[in-house]
Amino acid sequence: MYDKIKNSLNDQTPRQEEATYGLLCDSCDMGPCKFNISDRSNSVPCGITPDEMALKNLAEKIIEGLGEYKSSTRHLTTTYSISTLIEKAANIIPPSISYTSKMESLLSKNRETKKVPFGLGGLREDAINVCAIATPQRIYDLVIAAKNSGLCKKALEAGSTGINIVSLGYPGAEVTYQLGVPCIGNYLVLDDALQTGCIDSIFSGGNTTESILAAIKSFEGRKDNIVQLPKETLHKTGMNIESAAINEAYKTGSIQGAVVIFGASSPTCTWDMQSIVDDLTAKDFLVFVTGAHMYKGNKNIVMDSSVLHIGFCEVGKIYNMGLNFKPTILVPGWKNAKILTSSLAMAHENYRVIMGLDIPVTRTIKKELASNGFIVEKDGGMVMRHILNK
Ligand code: SF4
Repeated sequence: MYDKIKNSLNDQTPRQEEATYGLLCDSCDMGPCKFNISDRSNSVPCGITPDEMALKNLAEKIIEGLGEYKSSTRHLTTTYSISTLIEKAANIIPPSISYTSKMESLLSKNRETKKVPFGLGGLREDAINVCAIATPQRIYDLVIAAKNSGLCKKALEAGSTGINIVSLGYPGAEVTYQLGVPCIGNYLVLDDALQTGCIDSIFSGGNTTESILAAIKSFEGRKDNIVQLPKETLHKTGMNIESAAINEAYKTGSIQGAVVIFGASSPTCTWDMQSIVDDLTAKDFLVFVTGAHMYKGNKNIVMDSSVLHIGFCEVGKIYNMGLNFKPTILVPGWKNAKILTSSLAMAHENYRVIMGLDIPVTRTIKKELASNGFIVEKDGGMVMRHILNK
């Protein structure tokens, strides 16, 4: 009775020993990665430890287990159909729309179009820099706390020019859009940011006042001449999306279409993002950018700029833009499961999705994905061709 199983077990011998310890990971586009069994001193790009990787793998199984109570009839892990999985991925859309709207109503009251620094040049040598890695709500609380007159006085007394809150990562990108807070990049830049010697504290959602006081203390102890900051690079953000004007421009042919860059580029993606953006704007496309990285644009007949930063990477952002045509979605990296799931969800909703990195599936499944409008294209030079090939 078990002959087939026994034969298959033989096929699996010797076993991938790393997998039995939870030390294989394909959770993001920088992998797959593994830790050596005997010598665990090797490192992985995201910086997690062997124990953290094993826990991450276990957590994925637990999430899957818990998720079954919300799914309909079949277990997701035994749904051997890519179209069903894409359909399931689309369940991410309603909560994303609702979360996006919630953040919009919480943070948009003071939004205005302004130029803000993107990149490490957003840190200031003469200021007390607090790097916020928290939810948009908590970063908002920190921004308010940094305006407290008592804290501002203490900051000046410490010899600084003031308190500079900078944002990091996906939630930070939303705060940059809504509140004009400088955005230093995604979480992968954190090491580089710390090496500038210019980050005085990291706020991860705890007590806002304590975090600022800790930063003031750190500033007072900063050594001279250790700060090395790149030049400040400013980009416009905070613009309202004039959907009626954009829809009209698309209808009359004044613009060829729109593209949404969904998330920041992965270090393993070889696309030259600025050159893709340049090609798009030269062909009269509007480019909407989500995430913690920004690109140069130029004047556009509909909006002030051909390249518009619109905050964090939530599919709700794309729905809330109010366009009556579907932009193409460019995904230059999926450094977390949410970006990957969101990209599959967009393909389910008939958006064309072009991803710059492989996902761990077989060629057959990749072909099925392509027939659903989800293209993996690692050659950046081909991206424009896919976009124009409507
Ligand atoms: S999360 Fe990504 S970078 Fe980190 S171990 Fe897994 S595959 Fe590698």
